[in-house]
Amino acid sequence: MAALQNKVAFVTGGSRGIGAAIVRRLAADGAAVALTYQGSQGAAEALAQEIVAAGGKALALRSDAADPKSLTEAIDRAAEHFGKIDILVNNAGVFLPGSVEEFSLEDFDKTIAVNVRAVFVATKGVLRHMAEGGRIVNIGSINALRVPFAGAAVYGMSKSALSAFVKGAARDLGPRGITINNVLPGPVDTDMNPADGEFGTFLHSLMALPRHGKPAEIASLVAYLAGPESSFITGADLAADGGFGA
Ligand code: NDP
Repeated sequence: MAALQNKVAFVTGGSRGIGAAIVRRLAADGAAVALTYQGSQGAAEALAQEIVAAGGKALALRSDAADPKSLTEAIDRAAEHFGKIDILVNNAGVFLPGSVEEFSLEDFDKTIAVNVRAVFVATKGVLRHMAEGGRIVNIGSINALRVPFAGAAVYGMSKSALSAFVKGAARDLGPRGITINNVLPGPVDTDMNPADGEFGTFLHSLMALPRHGKPAEIASLVAYLAGPESSFITGADLAADGGFGA
């Protein structure tokens, strides 16, 4: 039997990049998957159709992670559609670059709303639909631990907030048999951080494996944390970073 047979997953920002790879992997492992998007309706619906055509179950929902009402409503809709939620993957994220000297309050608030507040809102939202054995996985960043270039102070700050959040939430949710962990990717080839972008070679110089990761290489760790074999792991930061933090 597939590892996630009869499980229901909710993935934020599942239309592109790492999120889309997570949606594909969880569906391939047998889960029904609800995925959210903000602007990429075509890509999100095409991905949901691809999964259904392969014999799986998927539902694409427009929901701005920065809007708590929209995010909570999407969670409730997914739970109503599939009957429950077993797995939450908080993947939606933004990287707004800029030196602290000129970083605007607007960009700061947007970064915190998507990268931090939405993780809290979605976690709280799914807990009403999640039974014992539930899994919550946040996509953090290795920049929570190491920020070896200028222009990423606020992004790094937003991702480091998740480290303490999972430690505390693991304590809150342990009695319910629910685990919560962070995956910390290093550079991964997506629209956010293209391997052939202007910083590609510089990023590789900081890594033990001098290349961008593939979205599927992050999805495989997420699938492990979402599945039965990770049952004793909670409150943890797990890096999949090509040795960026080594
Ligand atoms: P992309 O920019 O390639 O994709 C972002 C995804 O998030 C899209 O599906 C997008 O939806 C969605 N999204 C963005 N903002 C919102 C929002 N407000 N509401 C709902 N969905 C939203 O990013 P990546 O795939 O590279 O990044 C995914 C996660 O991984 C992020 O949390 C990022 O910080 C993290 N990460 C990425 C690394 C990298 O090198 N790529 C390294 C470390 C961490 P839409 O298509 O509709 O815009």
